[in-house]
Amino acid sequence: MERLYDVDAYKKAFSAVVVDVYGGEHATLWVALDKTAFFPEQGGQEADRGYLDEFSVLDVQVKYGKIWHQVDMMSEPLANPFHEGNCIYCVVDWENRFRNMQMHTGEHIFSGLVHSTYGYDNVGFHLSSRTATMDYNGKLTGDQLHELEMEANRIIAANRPVRAWYPTEDELATLTYRSKKEIDGPLRLVEIEGVDLCACCAPHVRLTGEVGCFKIIGWENYKGGVRVSYRCGFRAMEDYDARLSLLTKLSQVLSVKPEELGDAVEKLAEERKKLAYDLVAKERAIIRSRIEAMAEADRKAVTDGTADNKPADDGRIAKAFVLFLTDADASVLRYAVDEMKARYAGTVCAMVRIGADGAKDGTNPEGDGPAVWRYLIEQDGGDVRPWQQKLREQFGAKGGGPNNSVQGSVTASEASIRALLEEIPG
Ligand SMILES: [Zn+2]
Repeated sequence: MERLYDVDAYKKAFSAVVVDVYGGEHATLWVALDKTAFFPEQGGQEADRGYLDEFSVLDVQVKYGKIWHQVDMMSEPLANPFHEGNCIYCVVDWENRFRNMQMHTGEHIFSGLVHSTYGYDNVGFHLSSRTATMDYNGKLTGDQLHELEMEANRIIAANRPVRAWYPTEDELATLTYRSKKEIDGPLRLVEIEGVDLCACCAPHVRLTGEVGCFKIIGWENYKGGVRVSYRCGFRAMEDYDARLSLLTKLSQVLSVKPEELGDAVEKLAEERKKLAYDLVAKERAIIRSRIEAMAEADRKAVTDGTADNKPADDGRIAKAFVLFLTDADASVLRYAVDEMKARYAGTVCAMVRIGADGAKDGTNPEGDGPAVWRYLIEQDGGDVRPWQQKLREQFGAKGGGPNNSVQGSVTASEASIRALLEEIPG
């Protein structure tokens, strides 16, 4: 089987004879040809795409000494041409392939520089149309990476020749080269003049100038070394385009110039923080005034003699109190319960509605729908577990806690919870 990409990385179309076929999953066929310009998935690089006759190539894999092309038989309503001995016209998706060649050659330049400058090796490489990462077995700082990136671009601009060949054993013995991992079969070397010599089986560009540019777009510490994400040439341009569109969109939304976005977003974040703080303060003020109004009425009822309970020894009102909050954040529960306990000596319970519609509990006599509530029930020195037990028995409430403080969540209507809890002596 002839690897056409091996001798000519620029071969875009060719004719080949089918030598083997077997059925794949989901209406696909795996087709082996006597020769191919399709680069299979190898060395961390995604397979080439393209067409065999009118059928799209979904994947290319090396197996049993052959290169198999997975073709999509659903894509065209034509008769199946894939039979042994048939001649097929094949076209590689050149846009995608050339981008891979730019990216892959860029990797050689950068890894060569990392190796010659710091002695680290590329121990992991991933290249697809969506992602590109290189893993090095040593740490590099942002400044060091930036300097390497600049040097890579100087080499690209210098337009150095890139050569791939199969050296003889004698020649190989005299050469020092980088090797990513053990490779089966004869060793193929790729040389970037004056920069790097590395064993590799993939297609590369002829001159470094064709790489266009090399840009690091991110890096992170990884397995004791560093993982670098990068783009070259057309893919770098596509990345630049995507970032420009994003900046344009953001600057339209915020009505500021792109160069002022940093300050504008910082200001927004600060404003948002202040608003959230103000909102909590307002929520608390409302809760406090509701509790205070209720306590005022309860105190008056005792003074007027319309309530049969007497004040507790410490002057607090000797009764239980349940407060429903339908428009607050669950973070106010603690505050609400503390404010209630300051005025009421009985069991106090705060319920905050956290979801509008919970499961249907069938207890909806007053017409207010079931909702999800977060609750906190407390009584200093008391035992509030009977309250939680009732909620669990009646509505399947979840939660727990010590005798004098239980919390959790429950799904039921406000009216049905109120009716249940009013039955319990405070
Ligand atoms: Zn390579």
